[in-house]
Amino acid sequence: MNNRTFTMIKPDATRNGHTGGILEMINKAGFRIVAMKMTHLSAQKAGEFYAVHKERPFYGELVQFMSSGPITAAILEKDNAVEDFRKLIGATNPAEAAEGTIRKKYATSIGENAVHGSDSNDNALIEGDFFFSKLEQF
Ligand code: GDP
Repeated sequence: MNNRTFTMIKPDATRNGHTGGILEMINKAGFRIVAMKMTHLSAQKAGEFYAVHKERPFYGELVQFMSSGPITAAILEKDNAVEDFRKLIGATNPAEAAEGTIRKKYATSIGENAVHGSDSNDNALIEGDFFFSKLEQF
């Protein structure tokens, strides 16, 4: 299956009032929202979500940031969803993100970069199931 991806609107974008603007960009790019919730990750849950990055030097900062305030988690549907959504969000570092991307418009730094997007079909499934039961995925 390559038609679904997973995203989070991160605590920086939530705090700065960009949830609506980001959802509008997502919809305009042709993604359909098939699951969505606003939630606040504990440090433990954020650590579990980003466990693959455990050995990276920024892991502690990342966990602290991702548990610093509410986020919006969503599953998105579109042909070629993972790749197309990575293009829509832009490079990890907003200084390198292309014009017209979500991170170019809304991210403030490499750490506080407004949105998450899955990097593979396998991870999209794992990440979606981390937040949503099957009954909450439409
Ligand atoms: P992504 O797939 O574009 O989100 O990037 P990565 O998988 O490489 O990193 C995951 C997340 O960790 C990023 O979205 C950032 O929030 C954070 N991150 C990545 N690099 C750095 C860094 O150098 N410093 C800090 N503080 N956070 C980082």
